[in-house]
Amino acid sequence: MGLFRSWRRRRILARTRLGPALWQRVIAGLPFLRGLSTEEMARLRELAILFLAEKEMHGAQGLEVTDEVRLSIAVQACLPVLNLGLDGYEGWIGVIVYPGEFRVRKEEMDEHGVVHTIDEGLSGEAWPGGPVVLSWQDAGMSGTGYNVVIHEFAHKLHMLRGDDDGFPVPPPGMDAAAWHATLERAYARFCAQVDSGEATIIDEYAAEHPAEFFAVMSETFFTDSAVLARDYPELYAQLAQFYRQDPAGVLPASGGK
Ligand SMILES: [Zn+2]
Repeated sequence: MGLFRSWRRRRILARTRLGPALWQRVIAGLPFLRGLSTEEMARLRELAILFLAEKEMHGAQGLEVTDEVRLSIAVQACLPVLNLGLDGYEGWIGVIVYPGEFRVRKEEMDEHGVVHTIDEGLSGEAWPGGPVVLSWQDAGMSGTGYNVVIHEFAHKLHMLRGDDDGFPVPPPGMDAAAWHATLERAYARFCAQVDSGEATIIDEYAAEHPAEFFAVMSETFFTDSAVLARDYPELYAQLAQFYRQDPAGVLPASGGK
């Protein structure tokens, strides 16, 4: 990180006042943060302040972006980068928040060269080099195994090191072969389970595409970590290395939590 950026961030932290009542209210709505230590929670708070200073959040279709909306989205967006730093979200600045699902019309060509117009309702979308678009209603429905904010920001981390055609490129220092082999195995197993019609605890949408698998498994990693650690221990261990976090507290190196 450059000296100027680091100085600027220290100055923002020194000057920003964040009311404790607002902070407590937002945190109370995000029960999956309960496993964080006091030190991690303090760092998450600082990251959220910096996130709000460096990104621009706009409401669409009349949504008023209140302090609560801003802080809740910032906190959820910062959880995945708690130990990676905000530079993981480099190269874009906008977050657009709709009151509810938003409609997207796009054209897609199928394998026969036929162009189809698709009109669908979305709860979130992330554009390469562009904004993250979120439905506040869906962000507010964040629960065990479902978190649209973490989902879209996982896509952003994915796009940081290339396109999102396949699985993300792991950060430097990780064993890329082990990462890809583990994700491919877990993806094949999950898709087979969905194809067989068997009910899955983890959102079936993960079977859609490798990029969606990574985003959905990231949601599960942070909001239903014990289930992921139990059902997909190897994938859990890889994601723990990717995010440098152990939310389920199961890995020996973390010393537990
Ligand atoms: Zn997605």
